[in-house]
Amino acid sequence: MSRVYNFSAGPSMLPEEVLKKAAAEMLDYQGSGQSVMEMSHRSKVYDAIIKDAQRLLREVMNIPDNYKVLFLQGGASSQFAAVPMNLMTKSGKADYVLSGQFSTKAYKEAARYGDCKVVASSKEDNFSHIPALDPKEFRPDADYFHICLNNTIYGTVWHQLPDTGDVPLVADISSCILSRPMDVSKFGLLYAGAQKNVAPAGLTIVIVREDLLGHAMDITPTMFNYQVMADNDSMYNTPPCWPIYICKLVLEWIQSIGGLEEMERRNVRKAQLLYDFLDNSSLFQGCAEKDSRSIMNVTFVTGDKDLDAKFVKEAEAAGFVNLKGHRSVGGMRASIYNAMPEEGIQKLVDFMKKFEAENK
Ligand SMILES: *Cc1c(COP(=O)(O)O)cnc(C)c1O
Repeated sequence: MSRVYNFSAGPSMLPEEVLKKAAAEMLDYQGSGQSVMEMSHRSKVYDAIIKDAQRLLREVMNIPDNYKVLFLQGGASSQFAAVPMNLMTKSGKADYVLSGQFSTKAYKEAARYGDCKVVASSKEDNFSHIPALDPKEFRPDADYFHICLNNTIYGTVWHQLPDTGDVPLVADISSCILSRPMDVSKFGLLYAGAQKNVAPAGLTIVIVREDLLGHAMDITPTMFNYQVMADNDSMYNTPPCWPIYICKLVLEWIQSIGGLEEMERRNVRKAQLLYDFLDNSSLFQGCAEKDSRSIMNVTFVTGDKDLDAKFVKEAEAAGFVNLKGHRSVGGMRASIYNAMPEEGIQKLVDFMKKFEAENK
């Protein structure tokens, strides 16, 4: 067996320990005589799995008691609609910052349901940085203020959160959830597709402050209604059973290495290796501006499209896969989520050095 270093933006690598545990438990989960894929979601044995996953997420992320954790489906993209349907119901207004493609999609979707305002955008600079904010643009009566915390396609991250006062801050954390400790109490709502740092595709996590529940628009589909999902412990219908189980294993793995503090130390060290190389390279350059750099997605170019394509091809042949940048940006992107070992980055940097020497 030989495994590649997978730099995909998502679905992405899972920790090898987790895959091995899932494989060992595949045919007979803890003496139940069945795989987790096969068991009833109403069974006692599955109930323990979903409860454990939820408890572990609360522990690992230090989620305050006045927040609900929901395990949903439909991806982060469904939340682009679910958030306004559930939250944009008092003044009917929401403020959005456009820092990339996903936040733009979120804004466009929400604008179908109410009065949405773009308070800042870095589109003119091809989203190479988090836009500067002018708090005078913020509307104090907005029902929420939406940001995308880590911009997967461009490799940027908010290093400082906007001060929105009493207006609940809502963040898409799909590509940075569980990458470092975060103060959940600063947010009204957090959401994430699981397929980057948590589990296989199919699970969507919502963490929502309780006072924001119970105000959904009448038109809200039952499946999108946070209150209904909270009242039913995320089991109004069949939940994504298998991804929730893998989520539990991933959280156990994070706890076993020392929690999110240790996760952050590792992620910072990994990203530093790559950025240090890019900053000193005579061939490669990083795309994101330095004060906005992400530790999860690292974007870079050679400045020559043909050479970029050659690099991606040769890298793949050497066992470094999915380094091609997003189709809207071009160049390269190394997504270095939690499960990417430091060794993978060290070897990638060695490979880039060799490529640089051969292509001067
Ligand atoms: C991947 C991603 C999405 C889209 O997620 P889906 O689960 O595929 O809908 C949205 N936002 C961010 C920040 C992402 O990285």
